[in-house]
Amino acid sequence: MNIEHLVLGGERVPAANGKSFTVIEPGLGEPFAEVAEAGTEDVEQAVHTAYKAFDEGRWPRLSATERGRVLLKASTLLGERLEEIAVVEARNAGKPIRDARGEVGLAAAVFEYWGGAANKIFGETIPVQDAGLEITLREPVGVCGLITPWNFPLVIASWKIAPALACGNTVVVKPAQLTPLSVLVLADILMEAGVPPGVISVLPGPGSAIGSALVTHPLVSKVSFTGSTEVGSHIMRLCADNITRVSLELGGKAANVVFSDADLERCIDASVYAVFGNCGQDCCARSRLLVQWPIYEEFVERLTRRTAALYVGQPLDERTEVGPLISAGQRQRSLDYVTLGQEEGAQLVAGGTPGDNAGYFLQPAIFTHVENKMRIAQEEIFGPVVCVIPFESEEEAMRQANDVSYGLAGSVWTRDLGRAIRVTKGIRAGVLSVNSNHSVHTEAPFGGYKKSGFGREMGMHAVQLYTEVKSVFFSQE
Ligand code: NAP
Ligand code: MG
Repeated sequence: MNIEHLVLGGERVPAANGKSFTVIEPGLGEPFAEVAEAGTEDVEQAVHTAYKAFDEGRWPRLSATERGRVLLKASTLLGERLEEIAVVEARNAGKPIRDARGEVGLAAAVFEYWGGAANKIFGETIPVQDAGLEITLREPVGVCGLITPWNFPLVIASWKIAPALACGNTVVVKPAQLTPLSVLVLADILMEAGVPPGVISVLPGPGSAIGSALVTHPLVSKVSFTGSTEVGSHIMRLCADNITRVSLELGGKAANVVFSDADLERCIDASVYAVFGNCGQDCCARSRLLVQWPIYEEFVERLTRRTAALYVGQPLDERTEVGPLISAGQRQRSLDYVTLGQEEGAQLVAGGTPGDNAGYFLQPAIFTHVENKMRIAQEEIFGPVVCVIPFESEEEAMRQANDVSYGLAGSVWTRDLGRAIRVTKGIRAGVLSVNSNHSVHTEAPFGGYKKSGFGREMGMHAVQLYTEVKSVFFSQE
């Protein structure tokens, strides 16, 4: 098998220590690719190269319009190679091919957005009391260390890389070891589009060693991390020593609140995808389905029927709606929660059984009569398991929705506008949707409350993550 090399200094190079590791195809449980395994020497070199590219190089000094054109070119190239990249992403991450195509399209849209945004990032003039002119400049931060997860490898990397580059920074990306392939291709595309050497490096390798080396490097000025709350908390501590600015997008346990007056036809369909999409491996997964008592039994019956109709299969099969989990370990984690839920007294009414082939499949599982205090309702499972929890009143629904340590996403289904307004105001989470399960939009801010992290990616809010504000006063005397 050919080795997929690191992206460093504008080219593909082997790891300094010559090591590599095997990436598995989760649908088959078999080797898919051999990838160079970066070590701490590679981090050292990538950060120095990125620092030089920032301190002396062309990228931050290009006009914002020219930087934008490079990102627009990258968007076009992503679109041209959509099918090829989608197949890589589907096989590597175990995603249904139709979803993978959508995600490559989304990544292209993110680069299009930031291509257009680059020359619309500017400061203010402020009427101060002293005689003169007070202005602010938005300046790039410097070298950004970007650590990404395996659930949406290309999309989440794009959410970080595109705004960071648009603002004039240089980046070193550490993709998840399970899914490094699409991000390597993205870096090739960015270089082809005109991103100068050293401005982007991609270092696949173990998070515990090279991820830590990256975030503690004194030349790294900004860290952006998406992953588990546990590692996020560790990274925040590591950033403390150098006062490195950090933003974190962590776990979730989103509530999907369904009132008795909801449009059930649309709601049931959306609720199934909202939790079983990406095989439940989504920080926004609506894994707590709060359903009002008068419709509870009917809802469960229709939800179970709709879930049974989902096509669980190989990622490259056009019929597939739910693929495998990413790894044997993540499937075991879900299986352990299926056992735990039964021990806690919830009723398993569907799924929860592994497939009968070598891939990491698990039949989507539904637990009913779940109490919100149970561990299956409190902890992020990150697999195809939904907890259906009954409630009586609007107040009880909001109390339960908020009674978790996370606060990333959520949905409300009702035809009563006043209630929709009250409940969305009452839920402490960063991204909510009403009569929809869509809360991720390229143009709108995305991020969490509470233990789901802080900082807003996407939309123009992301400018705050990747720029410093400089205040300058010009005396008129
Ligand atoms: P994770 O350990 O948090 O991994 C996320 C990223 O952080 C990966 O690139 C990982 O590298 C890196 N990393 C790990 N330890 C690090 C460290 N000490 N310093 C710097 N970087 C480090 O997540 P996971 O273990 O793959 O998944 C565990 C659970 O996390 C999931 O079950 C789910 O609950 C949650 N999760 C959430 C999201 C989300 O979108 N919010 C995404 C993924 C996972 P390696 O690839 O080398 O480990
Ligand atoms: Mg981990």
